Amino acid sequence: MALLDIVLLGSEQAGVLRKRAYKVEDFDKKLHALLDSMVETLLDAPGVGLAAPQVDSTKRVIVVRLPDDEESRKEYGDQAGVLYEVVNPEIVRASREMVDGVEACLSIPGYFGEVSRHESILVKGQDRHGRKIRIKAEGWLARVFQHEIDHLDGVLFIDRATELWRDAPDEDESTPAEPEATDRAEPAPGV
Ligand SMILES: [Zn+2]
Repeated sequence: MALLDIVLLGSEQAGVLRKRAYKVEDFDKKLHALLDSMVETLLDAPGVGLAAPQVDSTKRVIVVRLPDDEESRKEYGDQAGVLYEVVNPEIVRASREMVDGVEACLSIPGYFGEVSRHESILVKGQDRHGRKIRIKAEGWLARVFQHEIDHLDGVLFIDRATELWRDAPDEDESTPAEPEATDRAEPAPGV
């Protein structure tokens, strides 16, 4: 395992963030090493989700993990702290209901945006050994999955944001759109 550098928008490697990633065919040691390193990088960041293009890989691979602290366990129950490694993820069903929420991205530090996402989704994919998996996700978990799967198609949250703002910790309290202002009072850690 190794910590990987996160590709930042605006950097020399940023082109990878706009490429469509390739379907994984080989569930080999190289894939496992990539997954292990992505998990390590995600936890180190820390973030709640990471897609392979963000670490300069063009494989359709994502890792997702909601925080495991006491508050998260209250809010997300069994979903808190669960590590999801999904290869070739695909959204096969999505609720008609959409919800607005605040997002951020490890590849675009300092920016936040209001993004509308499906409230719940069904994701199909494969685990690191190629076995088929299905994940039902709702709320924040569904949001994170949609954000990460977008990364595999070269789509960034800033493309979808209806409102975008820069974190400005040195400014006064009037910084627009605190997360509390939305109907989902969720934090917006990098994904
Ligand atoms: Zn992201």
